Amino acid sequence: MPRIVQKFGGTSVADLERIRNAALRVKREADAGNEIAVVVSAMAGTTNQLVGWTRQMSRLHDAREYDVVVSSGEQVTAGLMAMALQDLGLNARSWLGWQVPIRTDGVHSKARIEAIDTAELERRFAEGQISVVAGFQGIGPRGRVTTLGRGGSDTSAVALAAALNAERCDIFTDVDGVYTTDPRIVAKAQKLSRITYEEMLEMASQGARVLQTRSVELAMNHRVRLQVLSSFTDTPGTLVVDEDEIVEKRVVSGIAYSRDEAKITVQRVADRPGVAAAIFGPLADNAINVDMIVQNISADGKTDLTFTVSRADLDRAVEVLQGCREALGFDALKPDPNVVKVSVIGVGMRSHAGVAKQMFQTLADKGINIQVISTSEIKVSVLIAADYTELALRALHTAYGLDGPG
Ligand code: ADP
Ligand code: ASP
Ligand code: MG
Repeated sequence: MPRIVQKFGGTSVADLERIRNAALRVKREADAGNEIAVVVSAMAGTTNQLVGWTRQMSRLHDAREYDVVVSSGEQVTAGLMAMALQDLGLNARSWLGWQVPIRTDGVHSKARIEAIDTAELERRFAEGQISVVAGFQGIGPRGRVTTLGRGGSDTSAVALAAALNAERCDIFTDVDGVYTTDPRIVAKAQKLSRITYEEMLEMASQGARVLQTRSVELAMNHRVRLQVLSSFTDTPGTLVVDEDEIVEKRVVSGIAYSRDEAKITVQRVADRPGVAAAIFGPLADNAINVDMIVQNISADGKTDLTFTVSRADLDRAVEVLQGCREALGFDALKPDPNVVKVSVIGVGMRSHAGVAKQMFQTLADKGINIQVISTSEIKVSVLIAADYTELALRALHTAYGLDGPG
């Protein structure tokens, strides 16, 4: 029997009516003779509320307890979805991460899936049962509940599809596919019928939250056929595919932005070997990822180091660096949360020059100052003031010829 994984995101299970609608989509595939595993997110807004409570309870809270709190939203929807399926006459059962079990490493709040034991789910398939798995959660090496980072239900779904050798993994969301940029910001964004794994990986890691980065990585490594589509309409979605399956190749296929950025400038540290290691070492030791980096050396042998961290890590990063102030000997630390990273992405960049130049010129024409730049083989990213996000996205979308009718 063909096997598919269907994942429903927060807006697709936002209330009981929507859960019933999603259950109808599951029934349709079950009636067509497929074995199905369903992965659900928490109801829209729930995880944000849970995260808010953890912050209000304790500013620098224990990540193990954070996971206990924020994983709870998916428990509710897994149970409700199983009930909705049962009401449609289907044989269904819910599963929490630890019950499957979905085993992860012990990095609480951003754990990675290490293995999924599918024996029990296989037995249930054999009995004709649909498994409804709570997304976003697993069990760590010490037996505690872990979560996979925001948006992690996508990763639960792809990992499950890989472990179960599923034919397809369908990600149902509130847009009908992957667009050239966030359609909620740029009305002229166009839906892509196909996108390569590599481009999707860059789009996701640069902020297009339609798929969690790790889910794309897993899909690429395990060759999972991944499809993004709407849970509200029946229009065809976007298929994530290998490069050789793309017929029409564009130089730039998408533009992503991330508001999840914060900039820190360490002012006037000594310009000597080991300084960068002394700054970034303690951050890494505290599981704080650093993304973009620039260094400005002045004539007097001092240097300013500017870099970005995730906005959620800003307070902790400042605290960690203040703790090393004596060893580092800097003059001041300047944190700035009011920045956004805008990235243009496309596999065509490998063979076309001038993409970066066009980006810089377009932003200059709009009077937008670039604070930090970083590049990879298929992307160029810039850090700009957050106030200019929409202006920058629209101008770049037009400049790279991506505008649709709108
Ligand atoms: P879900 O709750 O279903 O997981 P998300 O909110 O995580 O949904 O992701 C879907 C959202 O991603 C869309 O509502 C859209 O605003 C945003 N998004 C950002 N970039 C893109 C893009 N390039 N294509 C489609 N959606 C995008
Ligand atoms: N509910 C979690 C979140 O909001 C996981 C997910 O929706 O993918 O991040
Ligand atoms: Mg999501």
